[in-house]
Amino acid sequence: MNLHAPDILMGRILDIIVNLPPAVQKFVEENVQFGMAWNSMIPTKGFKKKYAIFLRKDCSEFTVAHEIAHAYLGHHGNEPWEEDANQEKEADKLAREWLKPAPTQ
Ligand SMILES: [Zn+2]
Repeated sequence: MNLHAPDILMGRILDIIVNLPPAVQKFVEENVQFGMAWNSMIPTKGFKKKYAIFLRKDCSEFTVAHEIAHAYLGHHGNEPWEEDANQEKEADKLAREWLKPAPTQ
């Protein structure tokens, strides 16, 4: 199974990932594959990468960070019809941290 997102989406994802902390960028490179579908994250078994993140073409910067946060936190994955409220809160919190502008000098 191949999970390569179309270029139009991949370009957008990469633009967002470069603004995330270096450790997160490395984590994504090593563990995450992207595909285009509804916004979600699922742990993969037997694939090349550990997690698969699906995003809509029009997803926001926050959504990309949020789905990556789910993987980074080792969450069990979410389905749009079965969300875990605690995991959603954790992913939101971490995504906000990552996207927070650096403090001005
Ligand atoms: Zn979520």
